[in-house]
Amino acid sequence: MFDFTDEQKMARKMVRSWAEKELAPHVAKMERGEILPYDIMRKMLKTFGMDEMVKASFAKMKDDQAAPGSGTADRNLGADPAMSAIVAIELSRVCPGFTLAFGASLGLAGGAIVAKGTLAQKHKYALPILTGEKIGAWSMTEPGAGSDAFGSMRTTARRDGTDYILNGQKTFITNAPFADTYVVYAKIQEHTGDDIRHRPIHAFIVENGAPGLSRSKPMDKMGMHSSPTGEVFLADVRVPREQLLGEQEKDPSREQARDVFHGERTGMVPMCLGIVERCLTDSINYAKQREAWGKPIAEYQLIQDKIARMYVHRENIRNLLFKQFEKVHKKAPIGQAEASATKLYCGRAATECALEAIQIMGGNGYMREYHVEMLMRDAKLLQIGGGTDEIQIVTIARHLLKDGLVE
Ligand SMILES: Cc1cc2nc3c(=O)[nH]c(=O)nc-3n(C[C@H](O)[C@H](O)[C@H](O)COP(=O)(O)OP(=O)(O)OC[C@H]3O[C@@H](n4cnc5c(N)ncnc54)[C@H](O)[C@@H]3O)c2cc1C
Repeated sequence: MFDFTDEQKMARKMVRSWAEKELAPHVAKMERGEILPYDIMRKMLKTFGMDEMVKASFAKMKDDQAAPGSGTADRNLGADPAMSAIVAIELSRVCPGFTLAFGASLGLAGGAIVAKGTLAQKHKYALPILTGEKIGAWSMTEPGAGSDAFGSMRTTARRDGTDYILNGQKTFITNAPFADTYVVYAKIQEHTGDDIRHRPIHAFIVENGAPGLSRSKPMDKMGMHSSPTGEVFLADVRVPREQLLGEQEKDPSREQARDVFHGERTGMVPMCLGIVERCLTDSINYAKQREAWGKPIAEYQLIQDKIARMYVHRENIRNLLFKQFEKVHKKAPIGQAEASATKLYCGRAATECALEAIQIMGGNGYMREYHVEMLMRDAKLLQIGGGTDEIQIVTIARHLLKDGLVE
């Protein structure tokens, strides 16, 4: 597969038209924090019948799919990955921050519960997130544990009978200030004196309103303003075993979290494509109408060079995306080095293209009124969240040096 099918192209047109009519008019207010993205998300899920589709998949969910730790294959409940990508591409053309809030709730928090929860947990906690009724937040990063998320994690879960007592702090968590359901990673305190670096890590589902759970106001950040980011504080939060994701301690939770990281890496590709395609289209249109020295700037080769380079990035990202679809279709694994290389390339390309779009538009490009200014600030996050560029490079090198080049 190297292009969308006719059916997918139709769906893409519909999502684009929805995003232009229903999302774009609200972006300025969302970016200023005057309105939240969640009602618009719910409207989108309803408009496209996504909420009903999820309910129907849950109703058909079989016991084998419901087994705890049944892997990532059912994360999307059999949804076509091209359709999910189309939604992310089209939303990102208009507002990557909105896409991030949507993806963090449904893809990261909802996806983690679908992939690793028990049948009861999927119905109780994942279903309301996937239908938009509730908002999810996936909470891994801590003030002292970002790239070294597992080793440096200090949030603890102490057993108390069949309950767990959670203590710690999470930061930079998308949707944290307003979420209903938190997937929180914590280290199990085995006994005093054990090495905290190597303690087992488990995910817990914590609902807003639980005694001891509090969250910060939205943090003031460079971009992605339409996705509220915040801190989560856990002070003796008691959770029953039914809220331990998968309800089994022996399940290797570092692997659970790694799966989500992996999904985050591959899941950012459509966002990058949406940003790059929008930057390219806006740049072409601008270059053709803006004149300098009596002719359109599109006629200057230095401008053409930028447009051509942006197109090369667009083609490469698109090809990487279609390769992912093919692998999902064939149930072939996407290796760690491959996922990291893809994220590294696409994140850098998105930032580069957005910067070049600003350059093509000169002073206008630097103005908020011109969309590429927001796209550039938003694109930068794609080189940090879900593992920084440096971590992708380290991962690629580690896997290549260990396994060689897998042909
Ligand atoms: C807007 C936003 C939304 C986010 N949403 C979420 C969320 O929903 N859930 C969540 O859990 N997290 C979230 N994050 C956190 C994000 O995943 C982390 O910021 C990211 O993993 C980097 O961690 P850090 O910020 O602590 O950077 P650090 O780990 O402190 O890194 C600082 C610098 O050191 C470099 N570095 C670190 N280790 C190495 C090494 N071994 N070799 C070379 N260089 C190295 C890094 O690449 C980076 O350049 C979000 C972050 C942002 C900004």
